[in-house]
Amino acid sequence: MNNKLLVLIINDMVIFPNNEVRIEYDNLYDSQMIDIVNKIEDDLMLIVNPIDEENIDITSFPKYGVLGKLKLKMNVPNGKTRIIIEGISRVELSSFVEDCNFFKADYKLIEIKEDDECKNYFNILIKSLENYIAKVPYMGNAILGQLNGMNSLDELCDLIVSFLPLKYNDKKKYITTVDPIERCKFLIADMNRDLKFVELEQKIELEVEKEINQSQKEYFLREKIKLMQQEIGDSKGKDSEVVVFTKKINKLKCSTKVKDKIKREIERYDSLNNNSPELGMLREYLDWMLNLPWNKFTKDTDDLNKVKNILDSSHYALTEAKERIIEYLAVKQNTNNLKSPIICLVGPPGVGKTSLALSIAKSLNRNTAKISVGGINDEAEIVGHRRTYIGANPGRIIQGIRKAGTANPVFIIDEIDKMTKDIKGDPASSLLEVLDPEQNSKFSDHYIEEEFDLSKVMFIATANYVEQIPYELKDRLEIINISSYTEYEKLDIAKNHLIPRALEEHGLTPLQVQITDEAIMLLIRNYTKEAGVRELGRMISSLFRKIVKKILLDKNKVFYNIDFFVVEELLGKKKYLYTETSEVDEVGVVNGMAYTVFGGDILPIEATLFKGSGNLILTGSLGEVMQESCHIALDYIKSNMDKFNIDNKILLENDVHIHVPEGAVNKDGPSAGVTITSALISLLLNKKVSRDVAMTGEITLRGRVLGIGGLKEKVIGAHRASIKKVFVPLENEADLEEIPKEIKNDIEFIKVSNYSDIYNYIFKR
Ligand code: ADP
Repeated sequence: MNNKLLVLIINDMVIFPNNEVRIEYDNLYDSQMIDIVNKIEDDLMLIVNPIDEENIDITSFPKYGVLGKLKLKMNVPNGKTRIIIEGISRVELSSFVEDCNFFKADYKLIEIKEDDECKNYFNILIKSLENYIAKVPYMGNAILGQLNGMNSLDELCDLIVSFLPLKYNDKKKYITTVDPIERCKFLIADMNRDLKFVELEQKIELEVEKEINQSQKEYFLREKIKLMQQEIGDSKGKDSEVVVFTKKINKLKCSTKVKDKIKREIERYDSLNNNSPELGMLREYLDWMLNLPWNKFTKDTDDLNKVKNILDSSHYALTEAKERIIEYLAVKQNTNNLKSPIICLVGPPGVGKTSLALSIAKSLNRNTAKISVGGINDEAEIVGHRRTYIGANPGRIIQGIRKAGTANPVFIIDEIDKMTKDIKGDPASSLLEVLDPEQNSKFSDHYIEEEFDLSKVMFIATANYVEQIPYELKDRLEIINISSYTEYEKLDIAKNHLIPRALEEHGLTPLQVQITDEAIMLLIRNYTKEAGVRELGRMISSLFRKIVKKILLDKNKVFYNIDFFVVEELLGKKKYLYTETSEVDEVGVVNGMAYTVFGGDILPIEATLFKGSGNLILTGSLGEVMQESCHIALDYIKSNMDKFNIDNKILLENDVHIHVPEGAVNKDGPSAGVTITSALISLLLNKKVSRDVAMTGEITLRGRVLGIGGLKEKVIGAHRASIKKVFVPLENEADLEEIPKEIKNDIEFIKVSNYSDIYNYIFKR
């Protein structure tokens, strides 16, 4: 152990053996100490990096330090003193004392014996160093020059660490760690960490550089295109669209999945060449995606009384339909069940199916969407075309939703009974996915590609004929029938709804124009032929247009009373004459009853007989079903000749001719069975059937009378034709309930289950 030396405390740098450092100071303490070192201590001192830099006392000194030698001391112009100290050797310190404000300690030089292991580490360390210098750009290779002749690991470690760009705290351990192998390991670890950092840095730099190059290139190209566009007068480029798209997507309320997808597509759009054929398609797609009401909802009115009032005030009658709608809404509200079936309003045209659905929307405070699926045979119409398809578009469902502007509109699907099925697919099954509450929360349109939640949509379908609704769809629907209006109902609708509405639309007041009931009835009977009131509405409008013209031309006449004659004067000759019964009762002529989209009418069937050999001749526009009915009727009669008292010979020596007079009615139904039979028996027995009688019912080979559809409409038609007695199948007994009272007062209904009931009634008396 040598004599005590002064301790130079350094807090910001580490001096290693065989390493010189330059220090500048201007404080008295350091200056006094260096003076002592210089003058008394032979320029020697102990350099120490304290463990605790804050509170320096003898306990804060480490066990090891460096013996240093003052090599140079000079005053520099800035008033400071510069010294150069050389590290001589690592030393073990002990017996620290404080003497006149200076610290002193004993020291012992550390001798290190190096073995083969050290040699190996020496070589490894050299290799690591070379690799390090090669890869780390800020590490110069000056250090390599100092390696010549060096073979001690201890010295090598001290040399390398003095060059490494390590932080002060990381360097300190290299003084206090005596074992050179340990220090060598530290060095390799520190260099590797540095290397990794440098590699990462280089990678990032490379990427950034690449990006900058690319974006610079794009920037220049874009600027060039802009200039060219300006040159040809087309300055509205893609860039401004991207800005608009980006603004929109930031505001759009939708799931993150959809948002991400749109963002990706915007980026793709942005990156596309301005001449790319994809540009237009992608713009169109983004336009769809950004304008769909992904998360936009209206809040439902929960006051069912209010709903009821709105339905009542917008639509006359339809009591049953309204009641069922309110019930449906009540259940839906009460159970909050989104899985309730879809309402389907079924009835002839113009009876208010669509307008009632619109009123439901209004009363619930929902937006509306309306599509018609009549005539479509391609499922892409429902679910859209894939984007790859030229001219692709979303299907009608998504189109409707976009128009509605909310994700919970009342969605009216018109003419659900008029879809067809062919090689292009089955639109009904696609529609099933749309309507099925189990599936429609994840409705996927081929064009849109992302799922759209339709579960909050209230679908209302409409159809004319319940039988023609595809079976699988019918299963999901809650059918609400709306039947034809009677003349009296039409009169009420006209007075309470159509006329006030039309007056307002034409800027007229009820005081200016009055219209008599007879005039309205004339419109109903002879200017329209329909089950509903659409045509009637149009006739009333046409009447009012003419009145407005008259008022404007003839300023003296401000009031108009429209009666029977004014209607004829303004609208011209009657347009429709309903089928009337023959003037007199005739053999072989019996009134049937028909139900068509125009409502009901009577359908007189004629049969004649002439010499022949028992052939059946059919004329008139009879469909297949009706022809079959004729054969069944004749065969039924043939097998009951005795019962009906018909002479056998008649049919052997004659041909029978059945004719259904032409008319605008669809005669293709089996319900004329009983009428054909009656016309034939009338002919064969040569007995007249009263023209006040009408009948309807399908007949079987054994004479059973089966139920038919559209009884109410048929009866309304019969009533208009002044029929007094109607034979109806017993099976339709329940439908008689629906017949308006004023008709029941005028017509006698006879329910039959077998044809012999009719026979007994009309031929036996
Ligand atoms: P549909 O969809 O059954 O073919 P619409 O709903 O288009 O018939 O109705 C045709 C027109 O008749 C509409 O102007 C509607 O307001 C009117 N209308 C139908 N039924 C009624 C009714 N019961 N009360 C008032 N207006 C009615």
